[in-house]
Amino acid sequence: QPDLQWQSERESNARSYPRRFPLVIHQAKGIKITDTDGKTYYDCLAGAGTLALGHNPDVVTAAIEDVLRRQIPLHTLDLATPLKLEFMQELASLLPEGLRDTAKIQFCGPTGADGVEAAVKLVKTATGGRSILAFSGAYHGSTQATMAMGGNLGKKQHMQSLLPDVHFLPFPYEYRCPFGVGEGQTAAISAQYIENLLDDCESGIAAPCGLIVETVQGEGGAVPADLEWLRQVRRMTAERGIPLIVDEVQTGIGRTGAMFSFEHAGIVPDVIVCSKAVGGGLPMSVVIYKAELDRWQPGAHTGTFRGNQLGMATGLATLRYIREHDVLGNVNARSAQFFEGLRRLQKRHPALGDVRGRGLMIGVEIVDAFGRPDRLGRPPASGELASRIQAACFRRGLIVESGGRHSAVLRFLPPLTISERETAEVLAIFGQAVDEAVA
Ligand code: PMP
Repeated sequence: QPDLQWQSERESNARSYPRRFPLVIHQAKGIKITDTDGKTYYDCLAGAGTLALGHNPDVVTAAIEDVLRRQIPLHTLDLATPLKLEFMQELASLLPEGLRDTAKIQFCGPTGADGVEAAVKLVKTATGGRSILAFSGAYHGSTQATMAMGGNLGKKQHMQSLLPDVHFLPFPYEYRCPFGVGEGQTAAISAQYIENLLDDCESGIAAPCGLIVETVQGEGGAVPADLEWLRQVRRMTAERGIPLIVDEVQTGIGRTGAMFSFEHAGIVPDVIVCSKAVGGGLPMSVVIYKAELDRWQPGAHTGTFRGNQLGMATGLATLRYIREHDVLGNVNARSAQFFEGLRRLQKRHPALGDVRGRGLMIGVEIVDAFGRPDRLGRPPASGELASRIQAACFRRGLIVESGGRHSAVLRFLPPLTISERETAEVLAIFGQAVDEAVA
């Protein structure tokens, strides 16, 4: 038996992705993981969204074996390879018109944060601007520049200083409307607020280098942006020549039921950041951007590990599988099943304050139904109850992650290939866990 005690004592506390679950993972296939005691769990975290096809899908395993068998070099820096070409062509073919035939594809470091850093440097270089617009509740990574743009301010209050010049705009979080007005008005007021600020030459944000947004805030608690609001943001930024960066690290590659989440709003960003699922389970980030922004000098953004060949093989296998097997159709059908099941459960349990998300990026905001309601009549978020439900899920063989403010949002990020039966089982376990935790 591995010495879990030793491992948990010696691994840095700075990492938190659910280390608190007392299991040692032995094997995994599809949505199921098995621990060293032989107990199985439904994994609705799926590598924080990296494992689009679940654990060890056959096509990914075969792609890795193929690279090794054919002695394809594991790393070639920026040199061309047939595999890299194939991967780039597959990725380009999935882009919407306006990007498909002309966009530049830049391989960045192995993490989403690396991709975001590159995107911000790119628009700074292209526009000569310095400040950047980001949103309340946003999450873009854990490097200093990405943390500076993170809108959950509590998480960074102990850092002495992060990079300056980030201006926060209010994200249209309907359930807890930042303007304290009723439902249905949040997005319109937020859009108007942003436009007023952009037009106010004394607001200090008149000439930002870009605006970065998640179409569904992931770590912020699965908060979807209104689609009309996204169109407004696109219009406002386009009219003022402000590059729009959509952070698709979590939402991209089918997670929301479209290949890229901005497609739901029918918009085309100037810059897209992909990571997580784009590498098919291996570390990779890719920034895709309009060719006119490509004003980098050679060497302006280098680094050793930029797109490794194994990741291109697994990424290519994943992208192809999604395209050829109507995985998006499954995402949309399973999403409807999740929402239906969770909303039914919500009727029985006032502790399920809000059920929201898009595609298979779903969150349930857990509230203290007896607590003092806010101005909108919403009961307070309860991280404590969320954590008890999460623990009850775990005991029953279901792994869900928490996130959002006060860690009160339980998040479902299952593999995109989750079946109808598996979805029903996950919902049944979740229901029992809620029953147990609120009893
Ligand atoms: N952007 C978004 C939207 C994310 O969800 C994340 C990670 N959860 C990141 C950026 C950072 O990615 P990484 O953890 O790979 O640095």
